[in-house]
Amino acid sequence: MTEKELVLIVEDNDKNMKLARDLLQFAGLRTLEATSAEDGIAIALREHPDIVLMDIQLPGMDGIAALRKLREDERTARIPIVALTASVMKSDRDRFDAAGFDGFMQKPVDVRTFAAEVRRFCAQGRRT
Ligand code: MN
Repeated sequence: MTEKELVLIVEDNDKNMKLARDLLQFAGLRTLEATSAEDGIAIALREHPDIVLMDIQLPGMDGIAALRKLREDERTARIPIVALTASVMKSDRDRFDAAGFDGFMQKPVDVRTFAAEVRRFCAQGRRT
């Protein structure tokens, strides 16, 4: 029996946060929430989530800078981090790949598949 996955959502948009949280909790996952990169990093250090879903555009530090911070710290370096992005541009996706994200998910999220996809990213772990 596996413990319920603990998912840290870093997202500054209220509606997006609520939808992601509700979908994950409905599917039986546990969630943590941060509305800034700085808070997200602090929570990741304290709570050791199984995965971080990282919005890119955030107030202050952006999601790519936050990814770098989390990767630099050995306490958070092994946590899979998936970009949450509204962009459909291949150049952006290539940029997220190059930055070292373990994957990305399109916003608005697909309510039918979101939780299963998050679980799959948890199971997959770090891309390396
Ligand atoms: Mn945002």
